[in-house]
Amino acid sequence: MAKRILVVEDNDLNRKLFCDVLRANGFEVEPVADGELVLNAARAFAPDLVIMDIQLPGVSGVDLIAAMRRDAMLNDTPVLAVTAYAGKGDEERIRDAGATGYLSKPVSIGPFMAAVKGLVPGQGPAPAA
Ligand code: MN
Repeated sequence: MAKRILVVEDNDLNRKLFCDVLRANGFEVEPVADGELVLNAARAFAPDLVIMDIQLPGVSGVDLIAAMRRDAMLNDTPVLAVTAYAGKGDEERIRDAGATGYLSKPVSIGPFMAAVKGLVPGQGPAPAA
């Protein structure tokens, strides 16, 4: 059975790119553009991994990650944070909220898939660099 990944990204091109690449690698994906829908979508889809854009209109991905960590059903779901933030302390703040992994934008496909495969059991180890 294919592993499931919830892709949270408000940018249409990035969201499509992430979903296309993940589908090409055998994952089942559920795209979410609206941060307000993330928690309900995650509860319904029961993903093996959440890809979380941090910059979302109206809601911070950091707050969404923290909310997941307080949710009985989503508490253990790995989260790969993707962010354009470059400020000092941002990665620590995002990891402190409960992110399992962290990638800076712009995201390249190789490191993206390596991070995904490293966080989803049963999809094999990340390829050697
Ligand atoms: Mn964004």
